[in-house]
Amino acid sequence: MIPPSLRLGDVIDDYCPRCKLLLNHAVASMVGGSVVKVVCQTCHSEHPYKNAEVPPKKKTGPKKALPDQALAKAAPAAASKAKAPVPEEAAEPPKKKRASSPARYISRHATRPPRGRV
Ligand SMILES: [Zn+2]
Repeated sequence: MIPPSLRLGDVIDDYCPRCKLLLNHAVASMVGGSVVKVVCQTCHSEHPYKNAEVPPKKKTGPKKALPDQALAKAAPAAASKAKAPVPEEAAEPPKKKRASSPARYISRHATRPPRGRV
């Protein structure tokens, strides 16, 4: 089966290095019947034709570090959360803390109406 011959301006799929996606491209230049350069129909950037192949992702890049970053972000947050209640627990008995936290909210609202009256 003979592949359909391409002409300048024909829309073909190719990987856009700028959009980093497989998108529609217009044939910009051809040599000997093969596409050499294409223009992205999304960002209008011209780049060499990549045979519609998505390049392999770099596994050593930030993607591998992402879980580590998430862990690093979660660890300090957990550490800070764990550290913050410690002084409160040390100041108050653990049994009173649970009972006192909802009472604070009630007392806050109770203090508002007197403010407006006075
Ligand atoms: Zn593009």
